[in-house]
Amino acid sequence: MVDELKSNIKEGCGLKGRPSGACAGSAKPCCSGTQVVNIPELKTANIIPPATDYQFNLKKLYIEPTNRCNLDCRTCMRNSWDEPMGNMSEDAFRHILDGLKTFSPVPEVFFGGFGEPLFHPRIVEMVSEAKKIGATVKLITNGILLTPVMAQNLLDTGIDLIWISIDGATPESYADIRLGASLPQVIENVTRFNEIILSTSSIACCAFIPKYKTKLGITFVAMKRNIADLPAVLKLGRRLNVERFLVTNILPYTEEMQDEILYANLTDSYGHPSLTLPRIDPNFLSLDALYREVDTVNWLDSLPQDNLNHCPFIDNDCGAISWDGGFSPCLALLHTNGTYVRDIKHVSKRWTIGRIQDQSLPKLWFAPEHLAFRDRVKKFDFAPCTNCGSCDLFEYNEEDCYGNAFPVCGGCLWAQGIVRCP
Ligand code: SF4
Ligand code: SF4
Ligand code: SF4
Repeated sequence: MVDELKSNIKEGCGLKGRPSGACAGSAKPCCSGTQVVNIPELKTANIIPPATDYQFNLKKLYIEPTNRCNLDCRTCMRNSWDEPMGNMSEDAFRHILDGLKTFSPVPEVFFGGFGEPLFHPRIVEMVSEAKKIGATVKLITNGILLTPVMAQNLLDTGIDLIWISIDGATPESYADIRLGASLPQVIENVTRFNEIILSTSSIACCAFIPKYKTKLGITFVAMKRNIADLPAVLKLGRRLNVERFLVTNILPYTEEMQDEILYANLTDSYGHPSLTLPRIDPNFLSLDALYREVDTVNWLDSLPQDNLNHCPFIDNDCGAISWDGGFSPCLALLHTNGTYVRDIKHVSKRWTIGRIQDQSLPKLWFAPEHLAFRDRVKKFDFAPCTNCGSCDLFEYNEEDCYGNAFPVCGGCLWAQGIVRCP
């Protein structure tokens, strides 16, 4: 099947006025032979692999129910936006469900994106309908709208996992980041949530049998101003019966937020010798020795190599659909957004394959331009902009000095293991 798909993809880019094959013989061919030249010529309807062809299937779909929110967090990507706001229509969601059903197995559904999923007036129905088609369903929320009524309704859907964003351990440090929110309110909501699970459980043969099997997770966006709170947030999470934690760095969407990053040395590693570490016990002895060298080495080589120049969305066969129905390969390309890396504003322009209202999910997933892009990202022959940032090309994700064309991923912090999503 891949051969059949590739036979439709011609060598040489022909983009931006470059003649096809102009890069041949150069040290860095501009397109690795994977650019699509004439997409309209392709008869995509004839090259969709069977839904049982699991190797090439969509395995997880991020659905953004809304990009509206009840809060105004410092860390929010929407601070750098000039994009329309809205809720996903019933029509768009119906098309998504119809598409999900054609894959086997049904892909995991994750309600998230850039906005508060619980702010969508039909979110409970959406979760319920995704569960009914057999999907594993997860959702992320800031927790403020997870009232006892909402908790009961979500539990009744059979939702598998709810992630709650908690970035501070005290009401003050939490409210300093999540403007408009209250940590006691979130703790109260999660406590009520757990009480519902407890009160509806039964005991048989000394075993605790919960009626609802929904798990809880906490995500923590680490910054200079809150990293000291992390141990207390982990402790709070254990008290709240949380089973998973995920820590990510911030993407600084505003100039002032770049002073908060905890990865400055990782993105400024040129001129420092690289350090390769074996697997090692992280105890006081080892950590103290490493800590003394924290500013003198390039830590990139010490990180698990799986995280470097690997896109978690592409590697895990994910896709993403925004509230208005646009299908993208990842969350980073779902909306045009600007982030600050190495004191430079890097604008990542939106890239969609098409709209779910116009094309089926399998057609979007198996579209030649999407498959060609996934191939490029897997090879990751992009210029190392995250560690360079020395030319104007870095200001946009449109092209790089290796000759790659839009969208390029060399400036993406997700692909360097710095930013992570549940
Ligand atoms: S809760 Fe999420 S979407 Fe809402 S403002 Fe905060 S970061 Fe943005
Ligand atoms: S495109 Fe520019 S910023 Fe990126 S690696 Fe090349 S020279 Fe550096
Ligand atoms: S590397 Fe970044 S921009 Fe490229 S596909 Fe992955 S998340 Fe998207």
